[in-house]
Amino acid sequence: MPVPVIFDLFHTLIHGADAERDRVVAEMGAMVGVDPPALVAAYHATWRQRLVRWNVEETVRLLAGRLGGSPSNDQIARAGAHRHALARRVLAAAAPSTLDVLDALRADGHRLALVSNATSETAEAWPHSALSRRFDVVVFSCELGVAKPDPAIYRAAADRLGVAPTGCVFVGDGADGELAGAAAVGMTVIRTTEHNDTDPTWDGPMVAALGDLPALLREAESAGRP
Ligand SMILES: [Mg+2]
Repeated sequence: MPVPVIFDLFHTLIHGADAERDRVVAEMGAMVGVDPPALVAAYHATWRQRLVRWNVEETVRLLAGRLGGSPSNDQIARAGAHRHALARRVLAAAAPSTLDVLDALRADGHRLALVSNATSETAEAWPHSALSRRFDVVVFSCELGVAKPDPAIYRAAADRLGVAPTGCVFVGDGADGELAGAAAVGMTVIRTTEHNDTDPTWDGPMVAALGDLPALLREAESAGRP
């Protein structure tokens, strides 16, 4: 029986778009009347809270306030819309080759899950993306209230798949200690460097391209490994 495969999102299935994020947040700073570089710095400094707590509008209001601004509801709405549009663009940039890999895995009988450390605008944009219909289970940190590498987020995905964590393969670039976190709950871990060489000290199986995954999993299955 082909094992379920759990994927990370950013720098695994899609590009992280880090520079574009900073540009958009700076533009949001101008929209709400605070120093753009200061808002970018405030975003970076609060990433942990943004992953598990605040939505886009709360984030803008709170961080602008900390920087001495008092934006109107209208300004908050405009800045929020700018950030939501970014999330939709980033998800829509998934490469056709990545969608093909997901389709190939599904054709081989693998069920697919997503476990992503993501802020609320990504979760809101997700159902409209071409990626979303390839996945059986999706767990976003902002919805669960915990982020990788907390064991609870991996266990939530396995629970929703109806399998033990030890019966899952986790594939990710390795940001936020996610590979060690997945291994700690007993998942088989495969590192990907297709988008980014994030965790070069990780000592385990890796693929340089997601396109290598279906064959790797077929080999493992015929060898009796997860
Ligand atoms: Mg990642």
